[in-house]
Amino acid sequence: MQEKQRTEIATLGEFGLIRHLTEGIELKNKSTLYGVGDDAAVLSYPDTEVLVTTDLLMEGVHFDLTYVPLKHLGYKAAMVNISDIYAMNGTPRQITVSLALSKRFSIEDMDEFYAGLKLACAEHHVDIVGGDTTSSLTGLAISITCIGDAPKDKIVYRNGAKETDLICVSGDLGAAYMGLQLLEREKKVFMGQKEVNPDFSGKEYLLERQLKPEARGDIIKKLAGQGIKPTAMMDISDGLSSELIHICTQSHVGCRIYEERIPLDYQTAVMAEELNMNVTTCALNGGEDYELLFTVPLADNEKISQMEGIRIVGYITKPELGMALITRDGQEFELKAQGWNPLRES
Ligand SMILES: [Mg+2]
Repeated sequence: MQEKQRTEIATLGEFGLIRHLTEGIELKNKSTLYGVGDDAAVLSYPDTEVLVTTDLLMEGVHFDLTYVPLKHLGYKAAMVNISDIYAMNGTPRQITVSLALSKRFSIEDMDEFYAGLKLACAEHHVDIVGGDTTSSLTGLAISITCIGDAPKDKIVYRNGAKETDLICVSGDLGAAYMGLQLLEREKKVFMGQKEVNPDFSGKEYLLERQLKPEARGDIIKKLAGQGIKPTAMMDISDGLSSELIHICTQSHVGCRIYEERIPLDYQTAVMAEELNMNVTTCALNGGEDYELLFTVPLADNEKISQMEGIRIVGYITKPELGMALITRDGQEFELKAQGWNPLRES
């Protein structure tokens, strides 16, 4: 194996590094008046509401660089913030990127990270308008802020779900969590060995879902195209169960969802069986799917049912009925923030 070239960050210095990483960025949004290069970026949002979301990722807590390539990490870090703007039914426009780096990282590493970041931004027409880099004594810390917009009457909050609304989910669930299990398992196998190529064949989808999540701007567009405005919406970062509890609690309603209706990919089911896990538990509590969870009025039933990539998983009830999953054999389980069979230790 050829050793990668390694240039110490100190050769460029902090400002040199920022200049190097942000050169050639072309601004795409009308709302970006001025990007990187001054004390602050200048944005203009004269006639619309502005959405702001921020996220902090810590090495060892949120990601493990032994199996996450830096390019994927950059991509994912941008994507999870972009996803939060879509979850408000908005359009993402700008991000700022702040990094704390230890000496372990070279300029080439940062080029990789930025390549992923730029790819995610290009896919969603988002401008990188600023940020900061500083040194870290331990691992890598990444803070990204995303700014977007939405007309006042189009913003969708978590608190608008009403009794009889349909509960909908985009894509499929649990695959990102299964991808993480797979990577953790392989990590144990090849730790300390140099020339081991773990066999991921037949499980590519799980890895992709974990390493390269996609924010569902396409679903937001589709819904708007059909004239559907969700009554409540969130992106699924912590698992269906926990997000649904957020929506129900904040909307003061209850819900019923059906196990048989939860969208699963075949590879997710196979992997769960391999690991002796309940696949429904993984879908409910796995997290990091970055799919959209939303509610629509019953009147949209026909339109929603015909839309590809969206599944109706249940309905909203009176608050007195609580929040529950109905299993395949008709039993009711109360939804818990970490599932009825918790996966997590913390
Ligand atoms: Mg969110």
